[in-house]
Formats: sequence, structure tokens, C-alpha cells
Amino acid sequence: MDLKSGRPFWPIKNGPLGHYFPLEQDVDCEVAIVGAGVTGALVAYYLTKEGIHTIIVDRREVGTGSTSATTGLLQYEVDTPLFELMGRVGETKAVRSYHLCLEAIYGIEQLVHELGDACDFERKESLYLASCRSDVETLQREYGVRTRIGIRLELLGREALRESFQLDYPAALLSSDGGQIDAYRLTHALLRAASKSGLQVYDQTEISNHRAGKNGAELVTKQRKRIRARKIVFANGYEIPAGLRKDIVQLKSTYALASTPCERLPAKLTQCLIWETARPYFYMRTTQDGRVLIGGEDDDFDNPKRRDARVPRKSKKLVKRFETMFPEVDLTVDSSWAGTFGETQDGLAYIGETEKCPHSYFALGYGGNGITYSLIAAQIIRELYTGRPNPNAEVFGFDR
Ligand SMILES: Cc1cc2nc3c(=O)[nH]c(=O)nc-3n(C[C@H](O)[C@H](O)[C@H](O)COP(=O)(O)OP(=O)(O)OC[C@H]3O[C@@H](n4cnc5c(N)ncnc54)[C@H](O)[C@@H]3O)c2cc1C
Repeated sequence: MDLKSGRPFWPIKNGPLGHYFPLEQDVDCEVAIVGAGVTGALVAYYLTKEGIHTIIVDRREVGTGSTSATTGLLQYEVDTPLFELMGRVGETKAVRSYHLCLEAIYGIEQLVHELGDACDFERKESLYLASCRSDVETLQREYGVRTRIGIRLELLGREALRESFQLDYPAALLSSDGGQIDAYRLTHALLRAASKSGLQVYDQTEISNHRAGKNGAELVTKQRKRIRARKIVFANGYEIPAGLRKDIVQLKSTYALASTPCERLPAKLTQCLIWETARPYFYMRTTQDGRVLIGGEDDDFDNPKRRDARVPRKSKKLVKRFETMFPEVDLTVDSSWAGTFGETQDGLAYIGETEKCPHSYFALGYGGNGITYSLIAAQIIRELYTGRPNPNAEVFGFDR
């Protein structure tokens, strides 16, 4: 599958961060992870920290799947508003998912401290704009349910938005809890740290077959090497693992760009992640060196050829939209790209086990807040493997 096109920003910004080799012999381990993006790297880090002998493989170079294409916003907001999610999955699961995603932002902050590499992590506020007047009521309802469960939030009206942000929108929710990260760098930092504790990393190693046995499972690579493990973790991202229903996720195309460093960015723009109620939504954030990352313009297809051809046009549209909001900023595009992106019906990730695939765990963080899901997946899988109880697994289970 062709996951991305154009020039994703992170590999260019960071340059080479790590160098790994393909698997060239049969190996045994306790846990084998398929996929060395940010999700697989987090799972590998947590398992290795527990002293579990883990191997991770990727058909690409480490971090060069969707992880290299992300814009790196860390949001606790699931794609489905909380009040709506409550109606779909019940209050307990909906509230739990919002709380878990919120905790995940600070979990990532703690992790980068532990790694000794900030990976450009920054706390940010999150400004969620009502795209039109008819969405104001939605924001009011959402404000009510979120504040009731203890989330720090302000509801801003048109006047307040004009005064504080010089933005002309009918209303917005301003959340105190948000963040941003260089997920590509984080992936490399996690794998580097875990390698020191015994993790084996193999890239350019494609898994072409998978067999479950009585006491474990076996992966077979395209080069016919075998990996025998007690458990397999599928962290394949949007390349849906074999054996799962393809319709658990709707694949789409999404577009993004990074500007060159801008002079004089408005302070409010640098403090916030900005996004909106319209679907697909337009969003933006800044970087520490004064760039603006902008994304959106999603298409309801994932045909790479069609997607690739649209990158220049979509990039122009994103710039135009930015200029209407911040006419005082002179924006020059440095790189623009597109990527496959996936959404589930309820906006929740798929994490954990399914009877259909014995000896396997899945870490599929589909949705706009995919990176916070990656951390939750790593924690759930660690608990499942070590046999500790984890009530969160049922929130993201396959039986829904
Ligand atoms: C343009 C864009 C913007 C985004 N912005 C955000 C954002 O702001 N915030 C956010 O949270 N999320 C965002 N996302 C989503 C985010 O990028 C993903 O949730 C995240 O990168 C998924 O990481 P992953 O490790 O699960 O997947 P990946 O990074 O794709 O890693 C999966 C890996 O599995 C490997 N693999 C697959 N099949 C096999 C096989 N058979 N054998 C071996 N290896 C295999 C692939 O090569 C790949 O490297 C964005 C996505 C896009 C495209």
C-alpha cells in the first residue's frame, strides 16, 4: 500500500536518525511486533522495559509509514464529540475514552522526559472553532458534557474570539489540554532506547504470512525467514492486518503542508492547536522554529494516484484558508504531502485481542488522534501480555 506522497516534513527536518538491517535468519522471541511506526515503537518500548524479549519488523525503513506524514497534534478529542459518543457506546466507555486520551498526552510528555529527548513535545491549548452558526449548539452541548466529567474548558462566543484571537467565528471551545510532538523522532528515540535493553529491530523486512500454532504463532517474511513468538502484535497502521474485516476502518486521503519559518506569528496562533467542527476539518499548529503546519481537505478515497495528483491543488487551498484567518502572516510553503488516513464509525481505535486471530494483539489507532491511541494501545498490550487486569481494553475491543 502506498501510504503517503509528496515531501513529508519530518524525515527532511530530522535527516537520518537510525539505521537498521533486514532480518536474515530465523528467530525466536516472546513477542514479535509487525510495524515500526510510532505505535509499534511504543509497544516495543513498554514490553522491553518489562524485560520481555521483543522483536520488531517493518517492510519499510523505521518510521517511514504514516508516522512520517503526521502533523503531530496530540489531542484528547476523539473524532466523535463526547455527547454523541455517549449515545453510541454508552456513557462509561465514552467518558473513559476521553479521559484515557487526555492522560495519554501527559503520558507522552513523561515518556520524552524519560527518553532524554523532548522530540519537540510542547503542551498546547486546543481551539475548536464552530465552522458555522448551526454548530454553536453542538459546542454548547459538548461544553456541558465535557465540563461535567472534569475536563478544563472554556466556551468562547464571537466577541471573546474576536478580542482574544482576532478570529471571526460564531463560537469556540478552548481546551487547556493539548500537545504536539515530532512523532518520527519519537519513534526513533523509543527504538534506540529499547534496543539498548535488548529489543531487536529489523526494517526492510516484509511479513507475508502468519500462522497460529498451539502455544504461539509464526510470522514468515517475504525472504522466507521465520519469526516464532508467543504473541504477535499487529501495529500495521492503515495496512490492515490479514484476518480482520476490512470495513472496521474507512480509508481516506488527507493533505498537509509545512511552511518555512515565519516572522512574527501571532502569539495566540503559537499557543494553540486550531481546528473546527466542519467535516472534513481544517487544522493547524506551529513548530518551535516558527513554521506553520496545516492540514485537512480530506477526500473520501484512498487511491494513491488520484491523491498524489491533487497535492499541489490541495496545498493551495490550505494556504488560502490560512490566509483568510491570518492575513497578517506571510506564508511560504516549504513542503506539502498527502497520506492515507482512516476513521472508524465511532471514532474509537481497535486495540486488543480477537478470537479470530489466536496469539495476536492488535494496535490500530485509527482516527484523528491516532498518536494518543498509540500510547493507550502500548499500555493495554503490556497489561494483556503480563496478565495484569486492564479495564480499558473493553473500550477499544473488537466486539462492537
Ligand atoms: C497527513 C496526516 C496527518 C496526520 N495528523 C495527525 C495528527 O496531527 N495527530 C495524530 O494523532 N495523528 C495524525 N495522523 C495519523 C497518524 O499519522 C497515525 O495515527 C500514526 O502515524 C499511525 O502510526 P502507526 O505506527 O500505527 O502506523 P505507521 O506509521 O504507518 O506504521 C505501520 C508500519 O507497519 C508497517 N507494515 C505494514 N504491513 C507490514 C507487513 N506486512 N510487514 C512489515 N511491516 C508492515 C508499515 O511499513 C509501517 O511502517 C495523521 C496522518 C496523516 C496521513
